[in-house]
Amino acid sequence: MTKPAPLFNRLALIGTGLIGSSIARAARAQDAVREIVATARSAETRRRVAELGLADQVVESNAAAVAGADLVIVCVPVGACGGVAVEIGPHLARGATVSDVGSVKGAVIRDMAPHLPEGVHFVPAHPVAGTENSGPDAGFASLFVGRWCILTPPDGADPGAVEKLAAFWRALGATVDTMPAAHHDLVLAITSHLPHLIAYTIVGTADELAEVTRSEVLKFSAGGFRDFTRIAASDPTMWRDVFLTNKDAVLEMLGTFNEDLSQLTRAIRRGDGEALFAHFTRTRAIRRGIVQIGQDSPTPDFGRPHPDLPVEPLPRPYAASDEG
Ligand code: NAP
Repeated sequence: MTKPAPLFNRLALIGTGLIGSSIARAARAQDAVREIVATARSAETRRRVAELGLADQVVESNAAAVAGADLVIVCVPVGACGGVAVEIGPHLARGATVSDVGSVKGAVIRDMAPHLPEGVHFVPAHPVAGTENSGPDAGFASLFVGRWCILTPPDGADPGAVEKLAAFWRALGATVDTMPAAHHDLVLAITSHLPHLIAYTIVGTADELAEVTRSEVLKFSAGGFRDFTRIAASDPTMWRDVFLTNKDAVLEMLGTFNEDLSQLTRAIRRGDGEALFAHFTRTRAIRRGIVQIGQDSPTPDFGRPHPDLPVEPLPRPYAASDEG
């Protein structure tokens, strides 16, 4: 069987941390692109990316990285995307696709779109996959396998460019969905942003009680607390930006959450076992539904893909050569 042609000629990665380096590894493993050019903000990260051999070229500036690239993926914290767009705008090749991986989409579109020139396709994306680790060493090629990647093309986006980016993510193992940016931000506020906020809160609260409980908190952490500590170890810059840029949706979800928490508090105070039981039964069904649709395994540790898993070349039903 002949190998499908790479989808893109030159991929430029702006930012090469967990997500950027995972894209580099996965794109290589799947032959999704011919060539990878990478850059990062600090000389230290660029040196490490070169050492790890993640790209064909590691360059010093964002402008140099995008020269001649037909796919540019911005993999920096959401709050830094606008500044990157200002820098790369004048250097983008006509016909190139510019995308990102930010966890918030409305703010990324607001900050990037005005700085991208005519003739460039802007297709924002969010791979819903990650770990609590950061930097180029943390990435791995199987990160996106079996995970969602949500595309939020603005109105009027070129359907061919959207489909080609979707094909790229499918080549990396992801399942692609498309939705408006505002809807993405609302959905992710409840499924990802609020859970992180709760983890940050609960771990902070436990720490404040440390005087009394420190040894017990650590000793008995397997009783549910451990998973919160893992989530609460996530990158502070990334998550600061998420809450600053998805403020409205998070506040809306937080309002509903607080009401629900008050109801449970009341049930506990009143000894209302029936209300508690009904609530926990409903949430158990939700959890089982998540396992059933393959978004997690029944085993602990969130069924995250293991970094050391070998990555087999994936079938490529949507390779460019198959497109009409
Ligand atoms: P990361 O491992 O911390 O890597 C961030 C990269 O961005 C690094 O190369 C860093 O360069 C660069 N960078 C940081 N601040 C910058 C700035 N102000 N200007 C320019 N470059 C900057 O982060 P990540 O986890 O890959 O996250 C990157 C993006 O992916 C974020 O937008 C995040 O919302 C999104 N995302 C993350 C996850 C997750 O679970 N982590 C999941 C899905 C999407 P230096 O190393 O040189 O500082």
